[in-house]
Amino acid sequence: MSGVDHNDLGGRVALVTGGAGGIGLACVRALAEAGAKVHVVDIDRDAAERAANEVGGWAHPVDLTDAETVGKLPAEVDILVNNAGFQHVAALPDFPPEQFARIQALMVTAPFLLIRRTLPHMYARGWGRIVNMSSVHGLRASPFKVAYVTAKHALEGLSKVAALEGAEHGVTSNCVSPGYVRTALITGQLAAQAAEHGLEPDEVVAEVLLRRAAIKQLIDPADVAALVTWLCGRHSGHVTGASLSMDGGWTAG
Ligand code: NAD
Repeated sequence: MSGVDHNDLGGRVALVTGGAGGIGLACVRALAEAGAKVHVVDIDRDAAERAANEVGGWAHPVDLTDAETVGKLPAEVDILVNNAGFQHVAALPDFPPEQFARIQALMVTAPFLLIRRTLPHMYARGWGRIVNMSSVHGLRASPFKVAYVTAKHALEGLSKVAALEGAEHGVTSNCVSPGYVRTALITGQLAAQAAEHGLEPDEVVAEVLLRRAAIKQLIDPADVAALVTWLCGRHSGHVTGASLSMDGGWTAG
């Protein structure tokens, strides 16, 4: 070990959406551990306040599908992690249009508005990091997830445009694209999927969710957060416009 801290984020201010739970909470903890002060933005007020108190940050209990509210969030941010999201599973002919619209609002429009809002500060400082929590579903489709797959593919495009425009200002923009991570978003689906397929919840993980992954294990949120933190650290300045897969080999197949 060299003793050099490769992820020293002292003096940086981060904003993490969906920061009260799952991958977002792991990012809040990892970024704070690396020295950043963190704005925790989440619809779950109590959990957002708990997370902010834990790391000495600030809680913003807001619904990110409300564009007006998004326009009141802090703009003086050096690190923006667009992470909030949710899933809705239904066949296309039955897919509720209002759920489709809500998923685009949360997972595409809010990231666009937040990037737009925070870039002037990043440009002024000549440094910024945008990390967009995509998914294997930003790169591959699955049936019954039309709104989510559409949104994640759009997020990949948004991230690349931010990378091209931000380059001359010292701002990078990347997607992190995990396979299945052990969070409420997934564990909440297990019982329903088990009933539908006539399987035990553990069998659903291996035989349904991870059928296309080479590694048959759910990912730890802390592993995703470590990659996000590395993207904000010292050695990642030339990584931009990329989609970094952490998917147990899914997209290799
Ligand atoms: P999660 O459900 O554990 O956490 C999502 C957080 O977003 C929650 O704290 C929730 O309160 C918040 N949120 C939801 N709607 C919101 C709204 N309208 N306004 C503000 N906050 C809101 O989910 P997760 O698994 O941690 O997912 C985080 C991100 O990672 C999502 O974008 C998801 O698509 C992506 N992702 C997850 C997985 C996985 O397997 N869990 C895999 C790939 C990508």
